[in-house]
Amino acid sequence: MDIALIGIGKIAIDQHVPAIAASSDWSLAATVSRSGRIDGVPAYSDLKQMLDENPNVRVVSLCMPPVPRFAYATAALNAGRHVMLEKPPGATLAECHTLFAQANERRLSLFTTWHSREADMVLAAKAWLSERTLHKVHITWKEDVRRWHPDQEWIWEPGGMGVFDPGINALSILTEILPVPIHLKSAHLKYPENKQAPIAALLEFNHPTCNQVTADFDWRQEGEQTWSIDVETETGTMRLFEGGAKLEIDGTAVEITSTLSGEYPRLYEKMTELVTAGKSDVDLAPLRHVADAFMLGRRATVAEFIA
Ligand code: NAP
Repeated sequence: MDIALIGIGKIAIDQHVPAIAASSDWSLAATVSRSGRIDGVPAYSDLKQMLDENPNVRVVSLCMPPVPRFAYATAALNAGRHVMLEKPPGATLAECHTLFAQANERRLSLFTTWHSREADMVLAAKAWLSERTLHKVHITWKEDVRRWHPDQEWIWEPGGMGVFDPGINALSILTEILPVPIHLKSAHLKYPENKQAPIAALLEFNHPTCNQVTADFDWRQEGEQTWSIDVETETGTMRLFEGGAKLEIDGTAVEITSTLSGEYPRLYEKMTELVTAGKSDVDLAPLRHVADAFMLGRRATVAEFIA
């Protein structure tokens, strides 16, 4: 299938382009971006023009930041194209619900992707947890914003979500591996005095049987970077780390058994399945928790952030 990539920036170049190139299902037929382009691929700066001139493009994959995404997604759905959304799927929950309704009305596929759910050991962690009584769950998601988001001013703006931009990846894994739904109980958010989005967040969730489900997100982590979920259960401990790529049970590493390598190849394989089956995959649970954190969060001001 011919596909177009919209918003040619870091994630499009690092992950989407190689995943599409490596797949026999997809052919990158066009890009739309105000300044970015991919060598050898017809480049447009206007989405409507690209859609009008490329009726063969059945799917568009949107890789720009969340705030501008809704307008592009609506235009693509209105033009009868299936849509794949980078995480987080939108700047608000309401706009995501609107897109889902539009896709259903037009019998098009909408895929709200969560790349971290495709990390190598997430399914193994889910299977292990499904049979156990949980005692304690703690997420540690601490990284250096200067290292991973240089020159990205949008992440500090309203809708950019600040530390929840990586934190939502942890929440996407958590909501996948826990056998029962949880909801937010409290949140403490730290805002640099010169920014509109938090640089750190502490979250506490309500779980029907497990007394402690917590998350610690921090963007001020220099040195070692940590993306891990630690779980204590009645019958042992589990550590899912390196963003879901590695798993230890009771301190012993679990071997990888999957064949398709990489988060993004798996996302594109899923999109093939959705389009072929005429289905959508719209799970907004991770975004719901982030929205709740902004609603419930106790806000503290911390030192200004200088890039
Ligand atoms: P980015 O490089 O800052 O932005 C991607 C591209 O989006 C830009 O190059 C820009 O292209 C376009 N864009 C920016 N603002 C726009 C606007 N107002 N209207 C239209 N287009 C705009 O960001 P990114 O790191 O690729 O992240 C994009 C999305 O992918 C985010 O939702 C992020 O959470 C997600 N993501 C990022 C990573 C990562 O490691 N960076 C990993 C996984 C997921 P033009 O200027 O050429 O139009």
